[in-house]
Amino acid sequence: MKILVLNSGSSSLKFQLFDMTCHKVLYSGLIEQVRDHQQAIITMVKQLSAQGHIHQLADLDAIGHRVVHGGEYFKQPTLVNQQTIEAIEQLIPLAPLHNPANLLGIKMAQQYAPDVPQVAVFDTSFHTSLPDYAYIYGLPYELYNKHHIRRYGFHGTSHYYVSRQAARHLRAHYNLEQPRLISLHLGNGASAAAIDNGQSIDTSMGMTPLEGLLMGSRSGDIDPAILFYLARETGAGIQELDDLLNKQSGLKGICGQNDMRTIIEQAKQGNTLSSLAIHIFCYRIKKYIGAYSAALNGLDGIIFTGGIGENSAFIREQVCSAMDGLGIEFDTEKNQNSYDKLLELHSSASKVKIMAIRTNEELEIATQTYMAIRAPQ
Ligand code: AMP
Repeated sequence: MKILVLNSGSSSLKFQLFDMTCHKVLYSGLIEQVRDHQQAIITMVKQLSAQGHIHQLADLDAIGHRVVHGGEYFKQPTLVNQQTIEAIEQLIPLAPLHNPANLLGIKMAQQYAPDVPQVAVFDTSFHTSLPDYAYIYGLPYELYNKHHIRRYGFHGTSHYYVSRQAARHLRAHYNLEQPRLISLHLGNGASAAAIDNGQSIDTSMGMTPLEGLLMGSRSGDIDPAILFYLARETGAGIQELDDLLNKQSGLKGICGQNDMRTIIEQAKQGNTLSSLAIHIFCYRIKKYIGAYSAALNGLDGIIFTGGIGENSAFIREQVCSAMDGLGIEFDTEKNQNSYDKLLELHSSASKVKIMAIRTNEELEIATQTYMAIRAPQ
């Protein structure tokens, strides 16, 4: 059972081929600086064929596509047909950079393998369980009805994957059957999710991935009136402000760097703005842990994932230090251990269990694709 997972971006094509009988990655590749998606698909097939895995896309059992925005419409992985494509097209205004590129991947794959079942897996689906009081903004209600303005949340495939791994671990080792979890996906993009017994009940990203935690180059939460002030004072236009908040802010805006490894190095060498950027990054996460502990009415576990969450012992320690008032007691020694899939980070006295878990969005997409093609439609 060979399933190909495609992540078709505006300028890159990421792919992984899985053998789902043994959940093994057969091949993974990245084609960068893609100008023509058709050419990128041809290059990908050449690579897969050179390794002897498949000779053409038609040899596959299924293709799973990462799609960024599924709006309110897509609550689960969905088999691709004309109706699916039209619905993803209708969501383009909500994700003008991502959905068109995701669609190109779907259409190209369909062209080369019309008989291979394809499944769209959405970054937003896991958060469609949010209650209305968590997803409606304090704006005129008609903006929700007319313009679909609401919190959608992203990184859903990752939050879902790691929260399932955490729940399995907590059930097996601590007899915790219905854990209240906070999942922290900390990479270049960063988001937190509050998960109650397997269901996302709140998340920090909003209608777009700009809201919430401080990120590599995105501001996260700010006072929206800053935009009006800047427009009035500097004459900045919409594109400039969009660029400012999405590309020139966050860690990069504060200390000139968006790569956390470099920022930590610079902070160790005495760079005060790098130290400040780290401080803001971690403080913002602490605040979300507090808020989501209240939303969940208590907390059983915290998950660190994403490039920073999985790999930076330093950031994990900064986030969890001085949190014993919330029952979060961190073990700095365990935190230094290397690990394969999951590392426990709490002290034996800690009420809240803390874990670093390696996310695997591609495997999750392959698994969901496999389940979707086997399920009766
Ligand atoms: P992602 O977007 O999930 O690939 O994560 C990228 C971010 O993870 C970048 O800011 C990297 O600097 C950061 N990162 C990866 N490894 C480490 C590490 N060992 N320590 C600190 N940050 C790391």
